[in-house]
Amino acid sequence: MTAITNHLPTAELQALDAAHHMHPFTTNSALAKKGARVITRASGVTLTDSEGHEILDGMAGLWCVNVGYGREELAEAAARQIRELPFYNTFFQTTHVPAIALAAKLAELAPGDLNNVFFAGSGSEANDTNIRMVRHYWALKGKPTKTIFISRKNAYHGSSMGSGSLGGMAGIHAQGGLPIPDIHHINQPHWWSEGGDMSPEDFGLARAQELEQAILEFGEDRVAAFIAEPIQGAGGVIVPPSTYWPEIQRICDKYEILLIADEVICGFGRTGNWFGSETLGIRPDIMTIAKGLSSGYAPIGGSIVSDEVASVIAQDEFNHGYTYSGHPVAAAVALENLRIIEEENILGHVRDVAAPYLKEKWESLTDHPLVGEAKIVGMMGSIALTPNKATRAAFASEEGTVGYICRERCFANNLVMRHVGDRMIISPPLVITPEQIDTLIERARKSLDECYAALKEQDLLHAAS
Ligand SMILES: *Cc1c(COP(=O)(O)O)cnc(C)c1O
Repeated sequence: MTAITNHLPTAELQALDAAHHMHPFTTNSALAKKGARVITRASGVTLTDSEGHEILDGMAGLWCVNVGYGREELAEAAARQIRELPFYNTFFQTTHVPAIALAAKLAELAPGDLNNVFFAGSGSEANDTNIRMVRHYWALKGKPTKTIFISRKNAYHGSSMGSGSLGGMAGIHAQGGLPIPDIHHINQPHWWSEGGDMSPEDFGLARAQELEQAILEFGEDRVAAFIAEPIQGAGGVIVPPSTYWPEIQRICDKYEILLIADEVICGFGRTGNWFGSETLGIRPDIMTIAKGLSSGYAPIGGSIVSDEVASVIAQDEFNHGYTYSGHPVAAAVALENLRIIEEENILGHVRDVAAPYLKEKWESLTDHPLVGEAKIVGMMGSIALTPNKATRAAFASEEGTVGYICRERCFANNLVMRHVGDRMIISPPLVITPEQIDTLIERARKSLDECYAALKEQDLLHAAS
């Protein structure tokens, strides 16, 4: 057997990767030619690759490494749990301490009567659970026709059959026979791209009212739930106008439908509170959680469910679960992660130090010729790249061409900043310091300058007509 180590030359690792590893959300043939960057170590907010480059991780992995890399306590928690009880299931009238303790802790942290947790291994799995649980809930209430989920275009809720259907990404729906039946998508509250001449406030209201129109169109007796991210993440960090969520809440309160907040990104401090629902004033019946729950140190997700929904589901056998629901090692790591967030007052650091500092620096990027708007809530931000700020124009080139060029410049400058189309997004570890934020902004600016020069050189600075 061959041991694969960090000591192999990069080219050899890349060749093996290209030969055998199918990357998610990737054109693997193109990546195989180029060679994937091999990340070997990480500490704090910094990644190290196999060539020794030190890269500032402006994305906290994939929105998840909230407490930063290299936390010894999390390694210890995992090792301790593996020694004591590496696995046991929770299907057949058994339970274990990590699942008990984590469920109780989440019930304590979650707002309102969200006191019940169904565990999953990921955000996608948790949203699949939500589809089945919500439809079963209505069936048990004697309303089996309430099966329709209303979601939004350009939402991201995962990439399994169910969660990918809930999401509103055209690229996902185009492959594999999605969406499953009875999922309906209304428009997103993306003022910069879609708001036209409306004020952001009027636009936010209009987009929220599409929910009411859809409920009336289908009939209240057909609609089961509305699901949304408090702030869209993978869709491009789309911060809704201030009028949007209050109107959505009003509509959800008026009609008999459940509100699901997908907190997979917004949860666990990203917006400065434990949950994005608190920051945006949302009262959900169910919250989807994953990512920051364990700071990405172990795969775990779940649904935090209201007393009302949980008590109805409890009446019957719920024929659903995952082998790794409440996995003891993942649960122990998540519990330790929550302890760190609480005892180190990481929410306080976000609210009082990191977020205000980042907001000021981030918004200052709008003085760059390429940057239209800069949006940021807590520790998730986006900038719109545009050839014409006044008209909020899109580029004439295929969407994502310019964003990709910018992302490549960021990578070359040792900054991980992602692009979604021609928007650039960040979501750094919550523990980032003001000094590290300065470095992030410096590298972002340098990359924007280089991107701007490249666009001039390649004659790409044109607005779509
Ligand atoms: C990442 C994400 C998911 C899916 O989580 P996985 O763990 O990748 O399955 C679901 N919802 C949102 C909002 C996400 O950002």
